Amino acid sequence: MSDKMFGDAVPDRLDRLLHETADNALRFLGGLNDRAAAVVPSPVLTKGPLPEEGVGLDGAMAQYQAEIEPYLSASAGSRYFGFVTGGVTPAALVGDWLASAVDQNPPNPGESIAPSVTDATIGQLLDLFDLPREQFDGCFTTGATAANFLSLIAAREWWADKLGVDVTGDGMAALPDLKIFSACPHSSMVKVMGLSGVGRNALVPVDQLPQSEAMDPEALDKALLESDASAKIVVASAGTVTATDFDDLNRIADICASHDAWLHVDGAFGLFARCLPEMAGRVAGIERADSITADFHKWLNVPYDCGLFLTRHVEALEKANAMDVAYLKIEGEAPTYMNRSLENSQRFRALPVWMTLQAYGRDGVRDVVRRNCSFAAKLADWIEQAEGFELLTPVKLNVVCFRALFDTDDQDAANKAFLQTLNEAGSIFCTPGALFGKAGVRAAISNWRTTEDDLPVTFKALEEAHAATAQGLK
Ligand SMILES: *Cc1c(COP(=O)(O)O)cnc(C)c1O
Repeated sequence: MSDKMFGDAVPDRLDRLLHETADNALRFLGGLNDRAAAVVPSPVLTKGPLPEEGVGLDGAMAQYQAEIEPYLSASAGSRYFGFVTGGVTPAALVGDWLASAVDQNPPNPGESIAPSVTDATIGQLLDLFDLPREQFDGCFTTGATAANFLSLIAAREWWADKLGVDVTGDGMAALPDLKIFSACPHSSMVKVMGLSGVGRNALVPVDQLPQSEAMDPEALDKALLESDASAKIVVASAGTVTATDFDDLNRIADICASHDAWLHVDGAFGLFARCLPEMAGRVAGIERADSITADFHKWLNVPYDCGLFLTRHVEALEKANAMDVAYLKIEGEAPTYMNRSLENSQRFRALPVWMTLQAYGRDGVRDVVRRNCSFAAKLADWIEQAEGFELLTPVKLNVVCFRALFDTDDQDAANKAFLQTLNEAGSIFCTPGALFGKAGVRAAISNWRTTEDDLPVTFKALEEAHAATAQGLK
């Protein structure tokens, strides 16, 4: 094996292999438009035995090209509208390739510039989202789920400190009546309530406003008033995942202040509305939050996996994550990021983000967000006018939630069939959505490559899937 490995590392050979890989990646990216947006149903890779002797990198590449590459989705392409899925800009790709090549481990300062790059990048991100640098700090995470996890870890530490108990030492037994108040928590938030030991049953559901996923502030006020919990965390949304509703963060921040509650805002993708002057109002008040979640493998269009956790109580985060062992202690100017998050070792996640911000600046990020929102608005206009479709909620950002209408008593089942037909056809990919008791389809537009040229293809795909589904119902 080592013969093969070291053979690969010979400069001439490595040069050829990396150039061939670049050619391969370019072919893949150049072919995105001709590739199925998603491979439905998905094929499975034969579970072969572990090779005793490797076939060498050329052999492995040949295997990849034969057995894996043909069945990959065009999730990096312009017509993959599932979940909230960003693509990869050229600058982010370059940054990510370099992160792999240079293979730094930035959580410990004092042995390279990598932690300081992380620190500087977080500063520029605060500028991007118009958040005060002197009040917020945090760390990169694997995504919004991990950032939401850290929000609970920081908040419970902050509460323990206030109440004079030791939650890091004694666990949640020290804070038995911590409650979470939320109207539309993302499923990942519910998950991390379980993982953190806070418990999924600590959730106090708060009413939503009529025909909206946003929190009813009066209901929150009442719920906090009536609760005798000694530690309270409010989880607000800056962009719910289906209706893209924004909680009224200024009112909620007032209410949190009057009831002494920690305010966490999950802005995984909705935070990007703050980049646009015409939309920033929806996220007004987020600067008053105790903690914030953002995702970058979504709307910033960097590769998986990358998110950000921000808090104005970084000392609570560091107290909860601190380790005190001799072999990890290297002093330096930048923060010790391993004392801010779960992972001790970390990818140089800041580099693709830094490269993106330097290459495209605030304008570049704005441009993608604006174009995606305008695409969503045009798609929604078409749906409103087209026969056989209805919107389930007005479009407010980059997500269109709608359903197809059929001559049937069971629109929900027909929409399930419609979505399957649509996705199998492969020219666009959408995921299921349900709003206000109606099942339908969600299209989330978050890829930098998506342009108005994708509109006619999208309309045609919807029309054809509608006709095919209607035919099947006869
Ligand atoms: C996507 C999303 C998450 C989870 O993010 P991951 O990056 O998949 O971990 C959490 N909250 C909201 C609002 C989201 O949109």
